[in-house]
Amino acid sequence: MRFRHRILFMAATSAVVVAVAASLAALYLVRANESFVRAQDAEQTAHAVLIAPATDAAHSAERYAASGDAEDAARFERALATARAAVAAPVAPGDIERATDAEARLERLQRELDDLAEAVPVGGGRQEAADAARTLAASDAVHEAAEELEASFSAQSADAAAAVRGAALRVITLIAGLAALGLVGISVAAVYATRSVRRPLAALRAAVARMEAGNLEGPVAVTGRDEIGELASAFEAMRGSLRSALADLEQEIEERRLTEEALAESNHEMGVWLHEVEKTSEAVREMAAMSQTLQADLSVEEGLSVIAAYAERLFPELTGAVYLREDLGDEESPLVRRDGWGSADMMAETYARHECWSLRSGRPLQIWGGARALGVCAHAPEGTDCYACIPLVAHGEVFGTLVMEGCLDSAALPARGIAADSAETMQISFAEHVALALANLRFRERLKQESLTDHLTGLHNRRALEDALGREAARARRDGSALAIAMIDVDRFKEYNDVHGHEAGDRVLAAVGGFLKSRTRAGDLACRYGGEEFVLAWPGMTLENAYARAEQLRQAIADLRVTHEGTELRPVTVSVGIATFPDHGVTGEALLAAADVALYEAKAEGRDRVVVAELVACAVEREVTLSGQ
Ligand code: GH3
Ligand code: MG
Ligand code: MG
Repeated sequence: MRFRHRILFMAATSAVVVAVAASLAALYLVRANESFVRAQDAEQTAHAVLIAPATDAAHSAERYAASGDAEDAARFERALATARAAVAAPVAPGDIERATDAEARLERLQRELDDLAEAVPVGGGRQEAADAARTLAASDAVHEAAEELEASFSAQSADAAAAVRGAALRVITLIAGLAALGLVGISVAAVYATRSVRRPLAALRAAVARMEAGNLEGPVAVTGRDEIGELASAFEAMRGSLRSALADLEQEIEERRLTEEALAESNHEMGVWLHEVEKTSEAVREMAAMSQTLQADLSVEEGLSVIAAYAERLFPELTGAVYLREDLGDEESPLVRRDGWGSADMMAETYARHECWSLRSGRPLQIWGGARALGVCAHAPEGTDCYACIPLVAHGEVFGTLVMEGCLDSAALPARGIAADSAETMQISFAEHVALALANLRFRERLKQESLTDHLTGLHNRRALEDALGREAARARRDGSALAIAMIDVDRFKEYNDVHGHEAGDRVLAAVGGFLKSRTRAGDLACRYGGEEFVLAWPGMTLENAYARAEQLRQAIADLRVTHEGTELRPVTVSVGIATFPDHGVTGEALLAAADVALYEAKAEGRDRVVVAELVACAVEREVTLSGQ
C-alpha cells in the first residue's frame, strides 16, 4: 500500500475509533446527566408537589391544634386537601417511581395524611382541637413520612449525581485509555512505518553501494507496492538496463578489443608483408637492374662476373656459383664452375650431370634445415643443412645450374623482410633471371661468333680480321710495338675444283684452314680472307720472324696430304705476301694492301714462295698516312 494511503488509512481509522469512542462517551455522559437532571427534577417536584403540601398540611394542623381557630381549621382543611390530592395524583409519576422506595413512601405519606385527617377533625371544638394537637405533637408522623420521602428523592438525586461523576470518570478513563491505546498504536505504527521504510531503504542503500562499486549482479531485494517498492522496482529496472547496457558495452568493448587486436595483427602482417614486398621489390629491382646490365654487349665471362656481383648483394650470407655445361651439344657434358661469390673457390670445379639431382629431376632442389625431400646432389658439401641447386633453363634447354650453399639467417630474415619461402622464391626467380640473361649472352656471343667465323675452316672471317687488325694496328701505333701480317693464297686452286669438283676444293680449303688454326698461338689472328686466301696477323712480330714463320708454314702446307673420295689430291702450295708495321703500313687496310701487293709479286715470281712487301712504296704510303692523322 502506498504511504499516502497507509497514512490516510491510519488517520481515518484513528479518527473513526476516536469519534466512535467520543460519541459513545458523550452519549453516555448525556444519558447520565439526563438521569441526574431527572432525579433533581423529581426531588424538586416531590418537594414542591408532595412534600411541601404535606409539610404545609402538618404545620396547618399544628397551628390549628394550637389555636383552635376556625380560620386555621379552614387553612388546615385546604392544605390537607391539597396534600392528599397531590399524593393521590403525583406529578411525573415515572420520574418519582425512580426514587428509591418512593412508592412505599408515598403510600405511607398518604396513610399519615389520612391519619391526620382523622386525628384532626375540623368541625369540633376547641377541646377536640387541643386533643388533636397533643396527638400530633406526640406522633409527628406526617413530618417523618414527608422527610422519608424527601430523603428518598435526595438519595435518588445523590445516586444520579454519583452516576454522573462515575460516568464522567469512566469517560475520562476511556479517553485516557483511548489516548494510551492511540499512543501505543501510533508507536507501533511508527515502529512499523520506520521498519517498513528503514529496511527497504537499507536494502536500497546496499544496492546503490554495490552499484557504486561496479557490481550490478545482485538484484535489489525490495518488494512492496509502496513508494519505496516503486523506487526499488524503478531502481531494479535501472539496474537491469544498466546491466544490460554494461553487458552491451562490455560486449562492444570486447568486440572493439578483438577488432583492434585483429586490426593490429592485420597491420602487423601488412607491415611485415609491405616490408617483405619492399624487400622483395628491392630484390626484384636488383634482379631487374642485373638483367638490364646483362643486356649490354657483354661476353659470357663478363656477364658471369656481373651475375656473381649481384648474387653477392642478394644472398650475402651464401656461397654460390654458376655452373655451365662445357659442351652444349653434348647432353652428358660435365658442368664447369664459371664464376661465383662467397667461398666459391671451395666448391667443386666440375661435376658430371648424373651427380646433380636437380638436373636429373629437371626441378630446383632446395634444402632448408636439413630437409631431404629429393635427395642431395653428389656435388653438395657433406652433411649440408641448406643447399640449393637450380637448373638454368632457357628456350627449353638446360645449359647449367645455379648452386647456393649455406643457410640464410632465419632470425635475421624477418628483419630483412624476407620470409623463408620468399627467399626460396627469390633464389628461383634469381636463377630464372640468370638463365635468361646467360642464354641471351651466349646466344649473342654465338651469333657474334658466327658472324665473325668462317664455317668451312673455323677461322675468323674477313670482317673479324678487319676489326681485329684495326685494333692491333691501333695498339701498335699506341705502344710502338711490332705487327706483321701474312697474306696466303693457294696456288692454282681453281684446278682442284675443276678437276675434282667443288667439294674437293672445299676439302683443300678446310685442310689449309685447319692447319693454320692449329699453328695459331694465343694473341695471333688467323682468318679466311676470301675464296682461297688466308691472312695471318702476328702482333709483336718483326719482319724477320714473320718471314721465317711464313716460310715454315709454306713448307708445312706443302707437306699436307689431302684426299677426296679416296684420291689423294695434288700437294697444296701457297704463295705468301708479308707486310709489317710500321714499315709497310700503319693501318690495317694499308698493311693488307701492302701484303696483297707482295702476294701478287709472289704469284708473279712463280708461286709457292714468300715475298716481303716493297719498302719504298710502303714508306711513301706511311709518310702520307702519318701526316694525314
Ligand atoms: P692462282 O694461282 O693465280 O691463285 O690461281 P687460282 O686458280 O688459285 O686463282 P683463281 O682466282 O683463278 O681461282 C680461284 C677459284 O677459287 C675461283 C673460285 O671458283 C674458287 N673458289 C673460291 N671460293 C671457293 C670456295 O669456297 N670453294 C671452292 N671449292 N672454290 C672456291
Ligand atoms: Mg686468289
Ligand atoms: Mg689462288
